[in-house]
Amino acid sequence: MSDKDKSTVLLEHYLKQLRLPTILREYAPLAVVCREDRSDFPTYLLRLTERELLDREKRAAERRVKEAGFPVVKTIDTFDFRALPSINEPLLRELMRGEYIDKRENVLFIGNSGTGKTHLACALAFAACAQGRKVRFHTVSGLVTELLECREERRLQRLHKQLERFHLLVLDELGYVPFSRAGAELLFEVVSRAYEHHSLMITTNLPFEEWAEVMGSERLTGALLDRLTHRCHILEANGESYRLRQAKKQLYRRSSPNSRPEQKQVQP
Ligand code: ADP
Ligand code: MG
Repeated sequence: MSDKDKSTVLLEHYLKQLRLPTILREYAPLAVVCREDRSDFPTYLLRLTERELLDREKRAAERRVKEAGFPVVKTIDTFDFRALPSINEPLLRELMRGEYIDKRENVLFIGNSGTGKTHLACALAFAACAQGRKVRFHTVSGLVTELLECREERRLQRLHKQLERFHLLVLDELGYVPFSRAGAELLFEVVSRAYEHHSLMITTNLPFEEWAEVMGSERLTGALLDRLTHRCHILEANGESYRLRQAKKQLYRRSSPNSRPEQKQVQP
């Protein structure tokens, strides 16, 4: 083996040990480019390390998105704001910057079903992931079930510790299913622990007056709302269900005579 081969083998071995996969992949082709550009050694090294850093950030963001457990990946670009005039678009765009998470503020989407609350919550949370924040998405009923199971198995503290690692906790769909007393208390504990520690984002179809019905206790609801709304951005998402509107449009298109030229005219 020539000296050159030996040094290449060693270099690649070291790059693997140092976990620098992008440099490992790119050092040879970039050397060719830099030779053609007549770039000096520091420039070559700078370009290599920049690529490693960018790739590393990209991989970390992908990991965070995976860990967040989004049901679907939605972005603000695919949201049609004209379909939801009740939403405060400037506030939403400001929240996309994620500063509310640094200030440990909460976000609450309130509105009827199908108006894009989950879509927007996912879009905000996805943006937070891209900004380097740790996010976890749960449906409220899923989280309550998990909390109850963990309590049964005496690993509730571990779950709370896990939840506390996140900068933002998304709790989707509060209000569809009422809780047992234990479930409501466990949910309250999550909100209470999050208070001033990390941000919560909740979507719900319930106006505040009706929260007590789902929580099963006026006292607990009062304490929960107190903590949740202390520093909170509230976004109203009331309007016609987007799904329903799309379905109606399709129905209209199908039943319109122009789109059905093959249809026979029925004579009276
Ligand atoms: P909600 O959580 O309020 O019940 P979703 O966010 O689940 O509603 O929205 C239902 C479906 O309609 C989703 O596929 C969502 O992407 C889509 N949708 C809702 N509103 C809009 C909108 N204004 N623009 C684009 N897609 C929308
Ligand atoms: Mg929803």
